[in-house]
Amino acid sequence: MTTLYPLNVICKNCGSPVFARQVMSTNEFGSPDLDLRPAPMRRALIYHLIQHCPECGYTGMDISKEPPEHPDFQKLIKKDCTSDSNNPATEKLYELAAQIKLLYTPEDYEAAADLFLKAAWIADDRHDREFAKEMRKKSLFCKMQKGYHKQSTDYKLQMIDIARRAEDFEKATELIEKFPKSKRKDIYEKILIFQQKLVNMKDSDRYLVEDTLPVK
Ligand SMILES: [Zn+2]
Repeated sequence: MTTLYPLNVICKNCGSPVFARQVMSTNEFGSPDLDLRPAPMRRALIYHLIQHCPECGYTGMDISKEPPEHPDFQKLIKKDCTSDSNNPATEKLYELAAQIKLLYTPEDYEAAADLFLKAAWIADDRHDREFAKEMRKKSLFCKMQKGYHKQSTDYKLQMIDIARRAEDFEKATELIEKFPKSKRKDIYEKILIFQQKLVNMKDSDRYLVEDTLPVK
């Protein structure tokens, strides 16, 4: 059961009141995707996590926070007429939020990568393959700024999947080969073998983590 709580936010850019929602609780049943996209109930939350000011277009996870002091910020923000307060998220808004994140500091690459990936997930739901591919490429680019080796094991696996689903099979193979030998065991090894098979077949479809496990 997912509980959402109404939240009145004041846009820090223009001072307008914005209706938003806060997630109080949720459950998760089922396997996530290989790129760590959550199973259905938790997945639906991404439609409520973004805040968008309909007056000025400021968009982010928390628009009551100071916007970036970057000369491009005011040029970048735009209103999204397809967004409404009950269902604020669109793939374009997540892309915009990611672009705004990148205006803060380079340390926000990781957060921007996450927002680009959420844009891809919404594009997946809308069957917009090309946009999803573009967002995955941007997400991977941002993640690479930190460096593959500095990522946690789960995020290394996630990056392989992002590359494959972006149809960058060469990069996916490179990342599989770079995966630390010491971690190549158990579930990780199964996932890597599964990924390599998909890459060899140039398969960029969505698969679940549980798809990599043998059928009982
Ligand atoms: Zn505003």
